Amino acid sequence: MTAVIALVGRPNVGKSTLFNRLTRTREALVADLPGLTRDRHYGTAQFEGRPYLVIDTGGFEPEERDGLVAAMAGQTRLAIMEADAICFLVDAKEGLSAQDVEIAEELRRGGKPIYLVVNKMDAKGAVSELPEFHRLGLGLPHTISAAHGHGVEPLLEAIFSGLPLMESSTADLEGKGPRIAVLGRPNVGKSTLVNAMLGENRVIVFDAPGTTRDSIRIPYARQGKTYVMIDTAGMRRRARVGEGLEKLSVLKTLSALREADVVLMVLDARQGIAEQDAHLVGVAVELGRPIILVINKWDGLNPEDRKAIRQEMARRLDFIAYAPVYTISALHGTGVGDLYQSIDRLWLDARRHFSTGELNRALADVLETHQPPIVSGRRIKVRYCHQGGENPITLVFHGNQLTRLPGSYKRYLESAFRRTLRLDAVPLRLVFRQGE
Ligand code: GDP
Ligand code: GDP
Repeated sequence: MTAVIALVGRPNVGKSTLFNRLTRTREALVADLPGLTRDRHYGTAQFEGRPYLVIDTGGFEPEERDGLVAAMAGQTRLAIMEADAICFLVDAKEGLSAQDVEIAEELRRGGKPIYLVVNKMDAKGAVSELPEFHRLGLGLPHTISAAHGHGVEPLLEAIFSGLPLMESSTADLEGKGPRIAVLGRPNVGKSTLVNAMLGENRVIVFDAPGTTRDSIRIPYARQGKTYVMIDTAGMRRRARVGEGLEKLSVLKTLSALREADVVLMVLDARQGIAEQDAHLVGVAVELGRPIILVINKWDGLNPEDRKAIRQEMARRLDFIAYAPVYTISALHGTGVGDLYQSIDRLWLDARRHFSTGELNRALADVLETHQPPIVSGRRIKVRYCHQGGENPITLVFHGNQLTRLPGSYKRYLESAFRRTLRLDAVPLRLVFRQGE
């Protein structure tokens, strides 16, 4: 599961500054999600190979009349519900304010892990205002400078060391088979596909619509196996012809993505690949989700058109050349059943666990075939590796001068490990750690 971290605090404490630092350029991807309300407040980021989502709750100006806490009611409260951890920012220069105290009380009621973050500690080691922040009763403050970056890594370390304890929100679906999310621009045929997939199969129970954050999950059985369809927009039974999806919230799409074990990315053969398609695929890749590319509306196309769309796809989506591609007609049901071969395989592959011995035998072969280059007169040394996580499978490499490994060698490592471990279709993350 991808973690969600919410940044909360009164205006001007530095939430957007921290957001930008965490997400760097990545928020641009999310801002342009297809068919979604534009919203700059959601971003994807990574910490040591683990993807996470950041929500900036900024932009909610306090209402004079009802006070800040009332203003936190809507979107901010949603973000807090959604979050696995909350960074509560306060301002070292301004000191503790009455609003901070109010927000702290509100947050405490939410029951989520709270990290008190004292921002604008630009001079390293400055401790001037700290004692008063202790009064919030939220434990030891983490001091950072969002503007300069001091303290941000240790903060993330603290947050992530606490996270595994909280990854139980989908435990109720454990053992029910792959969770499938069907995503794509409006009108590409998502609803038609969802209905085709569920149509002839046994729908087990209808989950009641969950909280606002949740999509409807529909467990069903097919040939003795169980699956869960994540229905983001009431796609099942939405039969009105030509009616595009209503705008989805970014949160809903991102939630579906992070919850999904396998993502079916639907593209419209008649429309070609839009910038938005590439963006959405990019976000799924960023979150480490296994993706199946589904080119829909393949019916009635002539051979030249078919060739052209395949070429365009290879070109525009070259960053995900490893993903399986299917051409289908959701309308006629052609090719829909075949999708399950990849759904089943990707689901299993993304969960595989490799022993350190197995990985290091593979590493020895890979290094022997093709050594890392020499930089500044010394050969870069990759000493050993281990698996740092699954779904996405993360391989952590240790050695000397690893920060200087050229991109071409990293790509070689990735493709060699894909081949050796027979992981040809799932995302693979490589993390490099300097040191012995
Ligand atoms: P938000 O309203 O909480 O999103 O706050 P912003 O991120 O917009 O920051 C408010 C102001 O504080 C801006 O002028 C920032 O440049 C400044 N700021 C943010 N982080 C720091 C920091 O670490 N040090 C200093 N000195 N200023 C900061
Ligand atoms: P959504 O907005 O992505 O859920 O798209 P819909 O499932 O509502 O489909 C949009 C339109 O495309 C509808 O008019 C469908 O009948 C049509 N459509 C969906 N799949 C196919 C297909 O495989 N072939 C053709 N020719 N039309 C399709």
